[in-house]
Amino acid sequence: AALPPPDWLVRLNEAQGEAVNHLEGPLLVLAGAGTGKTRVLVSRLAHILYRRLAWPSQILAVTFTNKAAREMRERVEKLVGNAVEGLWLGTFHGICNRILRRHAELVGLKPNFTILDDDDQLRLIKQLIEAEGLDEKQLPPRLLKGQFDRWKDRGLKPGKTPESDSGFAEGKGPHLYRLYCERLLQLNACDFGDLLLHNLTLFSEHEQILQKYQHQFRYILVDEYQDTNVAQYLWLRLLAQKHKNICCVGDDDQSIYGWRGAEVGNILRFETDFPGAKIVRLERNYRSTPHILGAASGLIAHNESRLGKTLWTDLNEGDKVLVQGVWDGDEEARMVGDEIETLEREKVSLNQMAILVRAGHQTRAFEERFLTIGVKYRVVGGLRFYERREIRDAIAYFRVLMQPDDDLAFERIVNTPKRGLGESTMQMLHKLARGGGRSLTATLHELLQTDEIKPKQRNTLRKLMDDFDRWRRQATELPHTEVAEIVLEESGYIQMWQDDKSPEAPGRLENLKELISALSDFENFAGFLDHVALVMDTENSEDAEMVSLMTLHGAKGLEFDYIFLPGWEEELFPSRRSLENNGTAGLEEERRLAYVGLTRARKRAHISFAANRRIYNQWTSAIPSRFLDELPREHVDQRAQTGVYRGAQGLASSGLGSLGYIGGGFSETGARGSGYQGTNWDFTPRQKQGGTTIDGRSRRIRDEDVTRTSDD
Ligand code: ATP
Ligand code: MG
Repeated sequence: AALPPPDWLVRLNEAQGEAVNHLEGPLLVLAGAGTGKTRVLVSRLAHILYRRLAWPSQILAVTFTNKAAREMRERVEKLVGNAVEGLWLGTFHGICNRILRRHAELVGLKPNFTILDDDDQLRLIKQLIEAEGLDEKQLPPRLLKGQFDRWKDRGLKPGKTPESDSGFAEGKGPHLYRLYCERLLQLNACDFGDLLLHNLTLFSEHEQILQKYQHQFRYILVDEYQDTNVAQYLWLRLLAQKHKNICCVGDDDQSIYGWRGAEVGNILRFETDFPGAKIVRLERNYRSTPHILGAASGLIAHNESRLGKTLWTDLNEGDKVLVQGVWDGDEEARMVGDEIETLEREKVSLNQMAILVRAGHQTRAFEERFLTIGVKYRVVGGLRFYERREIRDAIAYFRVLMQPDDDLAFERIVNTPKRGLGESTMQMLHKLARGGGRSLTATLHELLQTDEIKPKQRNTLRKLMDDFDRWRRQATELPHTEVAEIVLEESGYIQMWQDDKSPEAPGRLENLKELISALSDFENFAGFLDHVALVMDTENSEDAEMVSLMTLHGAKGLEFDYIFLPGWEEELFPSRRSLENNGTAGLEEERRLAYVGLTRARKRAHISFAANRRIYNQWTSAIPSRFLDELPREHVDQRAQTGVYRGAQGLASSGLGSLGYIGGGFSETGARGSGYQGTNWDFTPRQKQGGTTIDGRSRRIRDEDVTRTSDD
């Protein structure tokens, strides 16, 4: 007897249903944001199980984050009951790890291999540099690490790295890479890139193993396909060769991980690699109102390299996208806080609100505001500002500065950055301190008079003690923010992150700058340290309702009723670093990020930009982001500026052909903070030169080097 169609099929539109029902052969679902790609993937998974086309263990489903994998598992469980035991559902790394554990011996590892974290990886590279008699200063370990990671992203083993990369590290790059990989094997260890790379080796050198998995995985499903890198792509292609039942869903307009080796080209190659592939396009958006969608589509249309697609929605018109100018970052945080309180009064759940920032350091102002007004928040995919590693390190320096006997803080920084102090020295120091019932610093002062410590380490420690003495003297004479900068510079802490070529490093440097900005809100170190201690004390309970704070990158795939998008200013967004490093491609990736941000919103998107930013204790005048000009006028509502902001002829009167944010500009200026010497802001209307250059004068932030450090 014919059963009624299962629930998940009923809840799909025609195109979606087509994708779910296409169960034989390769399938690419290429569609814009909010069109139900992830829903299709989940339904398809459920449907395969329901129709008993495969056992759970014969299905491989790859998501971008562990969180997404958990959610997918829950959703499938809900649909088909608990028949999901044994599914291969996880991230690329998670699944590659699982496979590699089973066959470790075949690539020269033992099954209990360890996965190295960043620090281990660096220590290893450092040892190699030493062993090779090279100079760490010329060849910073972090620089090497960055290059090695990129090679692994591209699936390149030692000996396979391209000629064009061989000039790297004075021609020693490929050689060091080989040594590094050999050393990892000796240590029975893998870095993250290895998980994939070893899988590829395994498959290419052991035909029968490859066949086993090719045979096993009857169905392969991949979400966020636009952000796969070359190694991941090769891995998928190998595994799909037998059954060819691979279904990838993605959106070229949401490819935002180019800086981490993702290749949007993987989408474009799909049809070539899997001849006869079916392509399904979804055009109906179920998430956002027409205004939000219109604004997002208009914006992304400015990108040249895209496949192009139409989106429509049946939802009611709703609010236009709000664009609001504010005076500075504090006012922006206040404004967002006020809006959130208003929404709360209208009974909107905090869980339905999110603030999406371009860079991690931007969360700080909002966090402080929420703590002040008592709004609960979570930082998704990251730590709260004061919990971040570099912030804790820096604060530890300030604590030791203020309180030499603060052993916990001292311990945190004594060998950060690495000063070549070994375990044994530290152990001796601890023992002596315990024995004498004194602090580490006090003990150290004594110890330095003796010759119990080896000369090299003695010198290092003496220098550190002298440094602290000097900084303490300076702290009585100079403004605390300046002392803070001096400490972070002279201790080598800033340098440590400047040398770091990992993708996270620039963000950490920005956080440090933001920390200095935060400091300037307080009269002195003591006041600031008290504040931090109190802030750190507030605990959020897990299941309470909370506003989400996260980066635009972290928001991929998610949706909220109300989205706040602060900081739409040139340099910040699009980020200067992206433009400097990657030119037009960088700009287009930034624009895709803006598209991702806008399309997270169901009901309302609220963009803001400030006239002034304090960066590293300096006030900087900001230019509204060019992306504002690219939003189609009919979908945007310019909010009158709030109280403090008095940009007289500012936005409201300047609506010209385009929105005219840039032409109108801010005429209001004033001296605020010590470093701000803003005089008349004299905007030249923007010259559209292929949309990539702007003509306007922006005062550069003072410590250029800090942001100038590389990205990948
Ligand atoms: P993104 O590109 O942002 O990852 P997506 O294409 O994966 O988006 P989904 O997250 O799957 O889109 O779906 C967006 C929203 O639309 C979800 O709330 C989903 O439940 C809803 N939705 C999708 N398809 C339908 C449908 N046929 N009927 C009703 N709601 C739907
Ligand atoms: Mg999705």
